[in-house]
Amino acid sequence: MIDPVEVSDTDSDDELLIVADLSEKIKIMGIVSATPYYACPKKPCNNKKLITVYENAKYVMKCPTCLKETRTTDCKVYCVVRVLAEKDEKISEMIIFQAQLRQIMGLRGIEFDPVMDIPKLEMSLAPLLGMKLKVKLHTNKIMAACLDQ
Ligand SMILES: [Zn+2]
Repeated sequence: MIDPVEVSDTDSDDELLIVADLSEKIKIMGIVSATPYYACPKKPCNNKKLITVYENAKYVMKCPTCLKETRTTDCKVYCVVRVLAEKDEKISEMIIFQAQLRQIMGLRGIEFDPVMDIPKLEMSLAPLLGMKLKVKLHTNKIMAACLDQ
């Protein structure tokens, strides 16, 4: 059972914080969950998560922003990941969205593209384990990160 995760409107590749105050030191200890989803391919919709609706006796996927029916084959897969991370000798749950996840995997030289298959997706996240990062946090969301050498 996976908690539904609110996918923020700012979860966009275009809005990565390039210059950020990376003052918090964390170490990723575990993966709690990885949730893949289909996102609307239209640029103004900003990678909005598609929702399933029941219409004319069938299930269809629609973007809640542009309200267009969208085929999953036209969509990119995005994901949001919950990790356990140690900070100030305490372990807590933190959330990593797609853009930051790609950035963090990139620190390990890995080009990351999520897949809808959850076990495969979780396995592909193994390089996160044990990573020491300096991050900018917004409540429990990792907004930007670099390696903590
Ligand atoms: Zn849309």
